Amino acid sequence: MTTATLTLARDGIFPITQSADDEVVMPVSGLSVAGTIQGEGIYAGVPSLFVRLQGCNLRCIWADSKQHAQTCDTAYTSLFPTEAKQVSVEYIYKTLKINRGKINHVVITGGEPLLQSASLLTLVDKLQSDNWLITIETNGTVWNEQVVQIIPKIALLSISPKLPSSTPTIEKLEQLGIEPTEATRRHSSIISDVEPLKNIVRAAHTHDTNYQLKFVVSTPNDESDIHNILGSLPLESEQHVVVMPMGTDAHEMHAAALAATEMAIRNGWRYSPRLHIDIFGNKEGV
Ligand code: SF4
Repeated sequence: MTTATLTLARDGIFPITQSADDEVVMPVSGLSVAGTIQGEGIYAGVPSLFVRLQGCNLRCIWADSKQHAQTCDTAYTSLFPTEAKQVSVEYIYKTLKINRGKINHVVITGGEPLLQSASLLTLVDKLQSDNWLITIETNGTVWNEQVVQIIPKIALLSISPKLPSSTPTIEKLEQLGIEPTEATRRHSSIISDVEPLKNIVRAAHTHDTNYQLKFVVSTPNDESDIHNILGSLPLESEQHVVVMPMGTDAHEMHAAALAATEMAIRNGWRYSPRLHIDIFGNKEGV
């Protein structure tokens, strides 16, 4: 038994019908079973359970087509942290096991899950010994000894490098009534340092770990910003690149979908739907 702990976001482990301490949980998805589908990227549609870790080193805020500032859809892990809970790795492992059914895929997401890489490595080891396929979703800005050990053990590294359009500018912060903080000021310098991302991509190649570079696109400038990032990476194929339209609801997302589709066609990238928004709307815990 390990004593390692992880800090979960308020939606924690989802969607489940029972926790490891026998609490009965009603899934908010409207489905009658534990589990959901992965909504994005190359595993879109695959039945999955999710573990969301609390905390992020970035403070993404975009502008929609009407120039309205939009925080990320998990701002409760970053800008407005609320209701985090620290639990043991054992508890997460058991809860996933109880709710597994026929599901073989678990997505570990955030926030930025690699900020908790030491305990995350313990969880990954346990899940791997139970033959889970593991996806880790990351913004690609964290690189350390534990990340080196995690990469060979997972099925998919889903990296979402953040573009300059995610910067929490003074105008966007003012629109949302948010005071600038050290974290909002640091955002630009963190996303412009591509060294951690380079190391992550290199390690994925070395260990033959599947990975995707998933970009949320919201402005015409995004295309050249994506090329700038890709140009600095040891990329072997454009097929690792996935673009998705920005939008926290179906209406906003569909408005951005054509531009994202054109971008994908022009560059030989993959377009990703965001199935969970289509199916469940902008609901938490699905
Ligand atoms: S990196 Fe992800 S979780 Fe963190 S602020 Fe940006 S979109 Fe939100």
